[in-house]
Amino acid sequence: MSPLRLKELSIFRSRTSLVLIAVILTVSIVIGLGITLRGSAIRVADSAEKASDLAQIRGDMISTRRELSYVLSSAKESGDRRWESRYLTLSSQLTSLLGKSRVLTTSPAAEAAAEAAVIARKKMTSYEENAFSSIRRGNKSSASRFISNPAYNLSASQFDRALDKQLSQSRADLIFERENALATANVAMVGALVALLVLSLIWYVILQDAQKRGRALASAQAELIAYRDELEDRVRKRTHDLRLSMEKAESANKAKSEFLAVMSHEIRTPLNGVMGMSSALDATDLHPDQKSMVGTIQKSGQVLLTILNDVLDLSKIEAGEFKLAEEAFCIHDVATPIHDLFKAIADEKGLALELNCKIPKDCRFESDPARIRQIVSNLVSNALKFTEKGKVSINVSEEVDSDGQHFLLFDIADTGIGISLEAQKTIFDKFTQVDSSLSRKYDGTGLGLAICHQLAERMDGEIDLKSEEGKGSSFRFFVPVIRLDDTVKEAPAEEEQSTDKPEKRIVKILIAEDNRTNRMVIKAILKPTNAELIFAEDGVEAVELWKSGSFDLVLMDIQMPNMNGVDATRAIRSLEVDGDLSKTPIVAVTANAMPHQQKEYLAAGMDDHVSKPIQPKLLYKAMAEAMNPANSNKTADKQQQA
Ligand code: ADP
Repeated sequence: MSPLRLKELSIFRSRTSLVLIAVILTVSIVIGLGITLRGSAIRVADSAEKASDLAQIRGDMISTRRELSYVLSSAKESGDRRWESRYLTLSSQLTSLLGKSRVLTTSPAAEAAAEAAVIARKKMTSYEENAFSSIRRGNKSSASRFISNPAYNLSASQFDRALDKQLSQSRADLIFERENALATANVAMVGALVALLVLSLIWYVILQDAQKRGRALASAQAELIAYRDELEDRVRKRTHDLRLSMEKAESANKAKSEFLAVMSHEIRTPLNGVMGMSSALDATDLHPDQKSMVGTIQKSGQVLLTILNDVLDLSKIEAGEFKLAEEAFCIHDVATPIHDLFKAIADEKGLALELNCKIPKDCRFESDPARIRQIVSNLVSNALKFTEKGKVSINVSEEVDSDGQHFLLFDIADTGIGISLEAQKTIFDKFTQVDSSLSRKYDGTGLGLAICHQLAERMDGEIDLKSEEGKGSSFRFFVPVIRLDDTVKEAPAEEEQSTDKPEKRIVKILIAEDNRTNRMVIKAILKPTNAELIFAEDGVEAVELWKSGSFDLVLMDIQMPNMNGVDATRAIRSLEVDGDLSKTPIVAVTANAMPHQQKEYLAAGMDDHVSKPIQPKLLYKAMAEAMNPANSNKTADKQQQA
């Protein structure tokens, strides 16, 4: 929302107090007006009632007073004592009327007149009572004297005047009071009118504001909706772009995997030649210098193979093309060979290599021992590589977390060059080396730790590192394992019979291989087996040769001119089915080492595969397994899975 609109809204918020004031004013004016008008009305009604009472009293007094004069003059003239009772009634009536009239007097003037009337009446009464006592005694003339006494007459006229004054004053007071009340009501009405006018103005302003606010809110809402739509549009576009980039990334990743597979194939084939030929050469009679040169070639080949395997390993992990095994193992069978393997290197460098395994020998675990071996070997190899003096220790222990999950913990500690805190941040990234300068002392690809890290993650494990420059490093690798019952003994391994030695029986082997060097390598490797080797230079020739003779085994290259190894295998398998012949074991010998490729070979009907550069041990093992009829079920399973 724009700042302008926000400002407008904040102004409206400040109007709340105005509305509050307006409401309070309205309510108090209405209440005040009501109270005032009600008071005035009461006062007007009250004074009207009093005025009518006063008129009544005045009339009564005049008639009573007249009758009293008449009774007194009659009594005086007749001397009849019977007038006395009427006199007493009228006198008390007059006294009571005087009292009532006093109640209605409000002003001091009226009050003074009332007082004078009472005093005058008292004087009159004493004369009148004397007159009646004379009558009672039968002295009429005495009575007449009392009544005609000028003092009596004075009191009577004083009384009449005072009474008249009191009554007229009271009447005037009541009229004044009523007019007062009416005036108050009028003023209240005018005040209310003015107040209502002001309030109307305030309410007008408030309503105007409310209208404005409503409009601002509506436009703010419209603005918000527009923003939302724009945002949704942007998200849609971003999602689309992301999908495109993801597709691009995926295809780039695929291209990378394919490139790696091709690279691996292209490098493995000549490497196979280099390594195979150098081993063959090594087996011949050589001059010591030549022997050392061949040794160097072999070592370099081995390093190259390690690098190739690392690259391939990483691409397999990244492509998700590897499966973790779930095998029972004894940790000593993993740790001890690692120790033994690296002991020679440690001795050569004058380093101590210790293995401290706190786990009893009869403890068995389930996990992927080959991967554990790979990670630990890598860490030990690094520790030895980056340590010049002191020792490297391999500490193995078992840990159980609060959920009862068992872990194996490998702590590989060295007293080597250490790693700076800065370098530790990226040490597990691909192609990362602490010293990547041209003058660096240590060789390496910077892939080892990246592989370890990714493998550990895939195994739900963890690798961490503590290191101090110049003092040494300690790499810890945790891996979750299943702890098997200690008493479970290892099932007799079927593969136990797998041989490290060449197959002794003389067999006839068909070898399909287009590359001359590779043919020489295989020939050299299989020489100790005394097998009869028949070579075909492409798939077509392989199928033809297979038709013409019975073979115990076919070693099939994959990439060949005219017909590739996969198609040749399919052709042989279909001929076997057509002719109702028993199956000839076929083992792929190929530089295509990616898992999806290996699956394809099994699916085409091959029994196993061996990667180039050929490692004689692995080839012998694959040959022995393929030719062992007991393994035919296992092979069928593998093929089905593929
Ligand atoms: P490589 O050893 O092939 O270069 P790694 O991924 O195994 O690749 O190691 C990456 C880098 O980490 C090494 O180049 C080295 O600088 C550093 N490093 C690994 N292990 C150690 C160690 N134990 N002591 C010192 N530095 C190490």
